[in-house]
Amino acid sequence: MFRIDVACPRCGGTRVIKYGRTPEGKQRYKCNNKNCKCSTFLLDYSYSGSRPRIEEAIIKMAKNGKEIRKTTMTLGVSTAKVLSTLKKQRLQ
Ligand SMILES: [Zn+2]
Repeated sequence: MFRIDVACPRCGGTRVIKYGRTPEGKQRYKCNNKNCKCSTFLLDYSYSGSRPRIEEAIIKMAKNGKEIRKTTMTLGVSTAKVLSTLKKQRLQ
């Protein structure tokens, strides 16, 4: 088991491990956050569509001076997700 740079689509946590492959040969991932109800997921799902839009919304709210707590409540994402998104934004 090792950490990879993938965020869980449900909790936004990055404690995600590789978890075998689907019969189609796609990489399957598993969230390692014991408080998260997400079981396993495929990167294709989590990265198509919804993810960039959520990140855009997080960045937009931060720029408008919204508190992190308000952002998590409005968008339904975790604090970890907000922080990792903003950190990534600063690195760009
Ligand atoms: Zn999760």
